[in-house]
Amino acid sequence: ESTLLDVKNLKIYFPIKKGIIKKKITYVKAVDNVSFSIKEGETLGLVGESGCGKSTTGRGITQLVPVTEGEITFGGENLAALKKSDLRERRKNMQMVFQDPYASLNPRLTVQDILAEPLKAHGVTNKKERTERINKMLDVVGLNRNYAYRYAHEFSGGQRQRIGIARALILNPKLIIADEPVAALDVSIQAQVLNLLKDLQKEFDLTYLFISHDLSVVRHLCDRVAVMYLGRMAETGSTEKIFENPLHPYTQTLLSAIPISNPRDKKERVILKGDVPSPVDPPKGCAFVGRCPKAFDRCHHDRPQLQRMNEEQEVACHLYDE
Ligand code: SF4
Ligand code: MG
Repeated sequence: ESTLLDVKNLKIYFPIKKGIIKKKITYVKAVDNVSFSIKEGETLGLVGESGCGKSTTGRGITQLVPVTEGEITFGGENLAALKKSDLRERRKNMQMVFQDPYASLNPRLTVQDILAEPLKAHGVTNKKERTERINKMLDVVGLNRNYAYRYAHEFSGGQRQRIGIARALILNPKLIIADEPVAALDVSIQAQVLNLLKDLQKEFDLTYLFISHDLSVVRHLCDRVAVMYLGRMAETGSTEKIFENPLHPYTQTLLSAIPISNPRDKKERVILKGDVPSPVDPPKGCAFVGRCPKAFDRCHHDRPQLQRMNEEQEVACHLYDE
């Protein structure tokens, strides 16, 4: 399989003004030197606690927030090197599904309007063709065609997320970036939406970047996992390796917090001390140093880089230095 998305040394910094008298500008380092790639047809889970930069990474890739530095290669093309018009065209191939189907759909628009919008924006001027594509898409996501004339606010959370998915799919994208797509839904509805995403992936050869804080969902859905902490990448690996043999102390603590499926396989729950430090003033060395039970001298002043440990796993931690 070939690589569909390759992210190299991505930095997304947001300027903030600090101090009332001296208006000094400092930066929130929301994403700080993050690299990963996704193969065609693969599902990569991007995990970490809230505020670790997962969503910002997704938004940076789809150009919803400005990228400060780094390289995003999509389908072999460096996005930063494209002309505006070409970039718009490529953007069509990467679509987002958002966490909150209540907030992301305009309540004053009908489903028909919501789904027609991206089609119009990308030059489908024929109304009959639009209606056909909208009807087909409603079938695909399991919604009644008659719903096209209703308003988004008339639907349940699960139905709204189906509308959100239909909107993301209507331009036949290659990559779907789903940002906590089931986190706002009732548990009983979550499995339905996740199964729908799985089915659609097969049907349309989709590649997924699946952003989630829910490790059991990620384990169920993803081929590979990338773990972020404070805007940096802590570890990447196949789902199996990450769950069976996590190498980064942060991954280990994250996993120790989820309920075990096999009670004989006893593991100790590790409780993290301290708070997540501020991304305005991150630690000089390892981002995790203040909370890591295994921290040593070097961790305080030397920033660990992602290094390959085996065919399936990379880790950024000084415990594995030569
Ligand atoms: Fe812990 Fe040091 Fe590894 Fe960071 S580099 S995770 S502080 S052991
Ligand atoms: Mg988020």
